[in-house]
Amino acid sequence: MKTDFDIAVVGSGFGGSLTAMIARRLGRSVILLERGRHPRFAIGESSTPLANLLLEELARRYDLPRLLPLAKWGSWQKTYPQIACGLKRGFTFYHHQFGQSFRSDSERRDQLLVAASPRDEIADTHWYRADFDHFLVREAQALGVEYFDQTKLEAVAFDSQSAQLETERGGERVPIRARFVVDASGPRGFLHRALRLPETLFENFPPTQALYSHFTGVRRWTDTAGGSLMRTVAEPPPYPVDDAAVHHVFAGGWVWILRFNSGNASAGVAATAGLANALQFAEGETGWNRLLERLPSVRELFRDATSQWPFVHAPRLSFRSATVVGQRWALLPSAAGFVDPLLSTGFPLTLQGISRLAGIFEAGLDSPRLEERMNEYARQTLQELDVAAKLVATLYASMSDFPLFTALSLLYFAAASFTETALRLCRPELAGGFLLNDHPVFGPRLHSCCDRVLQAFPHGGLTATARASLIDDVYRAIEPFDVAGLCDRSRRNWYPVAARDLLNACGKLSVSQTEINQLLAR
Ligand SMILES: Cc1cc2nc3c(=O)[nH]c(=O)nc-3n(C[C@H](O)[C@H](O)[C@H](O)COP(=O)(O)OP(=O)(O)OC[C@H]3O[C@@H](n4cnc5c(N)ncnc54)[C@H](O)[C@@H]3O)c2cc1C
Repeated sequence: MKTDFDIAVVGSGFGGSLTAMIARRLGRSVILLERGRHPRFAIGESSTPLANLLLEELARRYDLPRLLPLAKWGSWQKTYPQIACGLKRGFTFYHHQFGQSFRSDSERRDQLLVAASPRDEIADTHWYRADFDHFLVREAQALGVEYFDQTKLEAVAFDSQSAQLETERGGERVPIRARFVVDASGPRGFLHRALRLPETLFENFPPTQALYSHFTGVRRWTDTAGGSLMRTVAEPPPYPVDDAAVHHVFAGGWVWILRFNSGNASAGVAATAGLANALQFAEGETGWNRLLERLPSVRELFRDATSQWPFVHAPRLSFRSATVVGQRWALLPSAAGFVDPLLSTGFPLTLQGISRLAGIFEAGLDSPRLEERMNEYARQTLQELDVAAKLVATLYASMSDFPLFTALSLLYFAAASFTETALRLCRPELAGGFLLNDHPVFGPRLHSCCDRVLQAFPHGGLTATARASLIDDVYRAIEPFDVAGLCDRSRRNWYPVAARDLLNACGKLSVSQTEINQLLAR
């Protein structure tokens, strides 16, 4: 049995398998080590336009054509109907007051619908990870990746040339040597423990917890009293509101619901530790039911629902490793940190990191610039996690003030849609890093808007004047980057994907209307 490899990848979630496949395509010998066994339950399912674009780019660049259909709902359904997934047409938010049923406000101040695609065929998806990750592992094996599941990693030692991994499989000790180790084992994963890597906190980020499972029988919002207005209004919503990442937001937390085409749904809650402890999330299903008691309209959605798995309680949801790389090893972004599911940032950050690591592998593990490249990878990984954490912390601080929450979340939607469009137009130089963080104009404005909320929050929040001027400043900040009509307040929080918005924004993207039309035709 071969025990000497160029690259060892620890963890066979989608991140590990994809990294292993790319390394194989670059001609490396690769071993993928997994402690569990597929198919298995995994959380983290909702993809975004940017995540799918990155997946598509990786599939094209590294000759992985069988992954291409997974980047869009339509091609996925046509090519791999056996791999369960969900249709995600956009981001749906409803705001709830504890103890009160949702009663739709005619000005829609209690909801936000942001479409991510104009039609189902090219829409995003929720990845049913049990199927999705299993498929990717088999693809990796078909490319020649050696796969060891049910393998215990006992220890690791590094020298300047390689890593020595002590593993145990089926009661047998198997030492493995690799020239480089990629840790894809998730937050607080293998290398974090084996090397006792230090953990740091995200600045200003509240301690949070999560509680989640998969369910059958979750009703659609439009079939409940809370969503009944959706059926009666003359103006149809920009997309079917349940075919989305659905967020039910309340003071101190939010509930997600992601529906799969197999009839089940992923649902859970993320909340500040104060609220989570008050509701006793640690008790699992009982804690969940206590939460639903406070949210009558959400409770109605779960009236006939049954959980398919025991509830998972995450007592410390966010995580940030102080160290991301070392001699002969690197953590994937998903192993280096996790913020919150709120803006579905996990997949794009992981895929971005895989793309960067792939570049490092391409340049060669003997390159004299290896250390410099690895340090840059670490810097970018932490910087992107930090900016995501800052925006999500700001949103947590405004969850009791939904109009403010809505305005602030437009910072995300403006940056994400601008970046996606710039990349699709093959103009990456226009998009300055994740959330346009490196953009000389947008980056400082994003930080300034967040800082104003975060600084005021411990002192009772913003004054009415400061709040109004902040909301205006958010619109001013996003206007030069708005390619999705987000600044049009007459839309009253419903934002479709409309060709005219992109055409109107061609100047912001430094392209002609013809180029936008060509993009739309593609
Ligand atoms: C509650 C929650 C909701 C989320 N929702 C979203 C979302 O909607 N959208 C989004 O983009 N992101 C979301 N995320 C983040 C998302 O889950 C991660 O980005 C994603 O799972 C990363 O994939 P991965 O393959 O790198 O790691 P993982 O999915 O964490 O897989 C790690 C693998 O490593 C294995 N492993 C662990 N330890 C070891 C070990 N010692 N030895 C060998 N194998 C090991 C595990 O068994 C597993 O198979 C969410 C995260 C959480 C916690």
